[in-house]
Amino acid sequence: MLIVQKYGGTSLANAARIHSAARRVTGLAQQGAHVIVVVSAQGDTTDELITKAEFVNLRGSAREMDMCLCVGEQLSAALMAMAIGALGFPAVSLTGWQAGLQTDSVHGNARITGLGNDRIRKELDKGNIVVVTGFQGINQNNDITTLGRGGSDTTAVALAAFLQADLCQIFTDVDGVYDRDPRVYPGATRFGRLPYDKMLRLIEGGAQVLHDRSVEMARDHQIPIEVLSSFTGAPGTIVGP
Ligand code: ADP
Ligand code: ASP
Ligand code: MG
Repeated sequence: MLIVQKYGGTSLANAARIHSAARRVTGLAQQGAHVIVVVSAQGDTTDELITKAEFVNLRGSAREMDMCLCVGEQLSAALMAMAIGALGFPAVSLTGWQAGLQTDSVHGNARITGLGNDRIRKELDKGNIVVVTGFQGINQNNDITTLGRGGSDTTAVALAAFLQADLCQIFTDVDGVYDRDPRVYPGATRFGRLPYDKMLRLIEGGAQVLHDRSVEMARDHQIPIEVLSSFTGAPGTIVGP
C-alpha cells in the first residue's frame, strides 16, 4: 500500500502542528503502508519570501524568484523529516530535484513533465518515509522551477500518478470541499464526493482549495483525491471519477 499525504501551510504553521502531522504519518507507517509526505511552506512563508525579494528588486528575474521561493518548502521538508525521526521512524527529505520532478521552463508557473529518477522508490524500499518538497521541480537546464501558487497539491497528485499510489490525501485547514468558501459563507454545503469536472468549475469560480493542475492531473491519470482536515482527520471530500 502506497499513500501520498500532502500537508498545506496552515497545517505546518508551528512545531505542534508539524508534530501532529508527523504522528498521523507514522501511524500509517506503523500499519505497514509506504508513505510519501508532500509539504508546503509553513504559514505565510511564501508571501514573506516574495516580500523579501521585492525589497531587494521589485522586478527580480523569474529564475531568481524561483530560487528564492523554493526555500520555504525545503525548510518544511527538513522539519517534517526531523519530527518523524523524533517519533522513532526513519525518514528522508528530498527537494524537487532530488526527487526527480522534471518540469518545463516556465519559471513561476512550471508544469510537471515527468519523474526523472527512482530515488523516491529506492528510499521507500529502504524503509524510509519520504518527505518531498511541494511546489518545485527542475527544468532541462537543471534550474529550479516553481509550479505556481498552491502548486504543492500538484506535486502530490503527480507523485501519486507516477508511483501508482493507492491514495492521495490533501490535508488542509477545512474539512473538505464546499459549494462556496466555508470561511466566507458559514452556510456553505460540504460535498462527500465530487467529480473532477465539477471541482474544476469550482476552481474557475475562485475556490483555491485545490490547485487547478492537480485536479487536471488527477483526472488524466484517474487518481482519486481526498481533501480533508489536518486538525480532525475525519473523512473528507473525494474528488474522483
Ligand atoms: P493549504 O494551505 O492547505 O493548501 P489553501 O489555503 O490553499 O490551503 O486552501 C484551503 C482554503 O481554501 C480554505 O481555508 C478555504 O478558505 C478556501 N476555500 C475556498 N473555496 C473553498 C471551497 N469551495 N471549499 C473549501 N475551501 C475553500
Ligand atoms: N507555498 C506555495 C504557496 O504558498 C505552494 C503551496 O502552498 O502549495 O503558494
Ligand atoms: Mg493550497
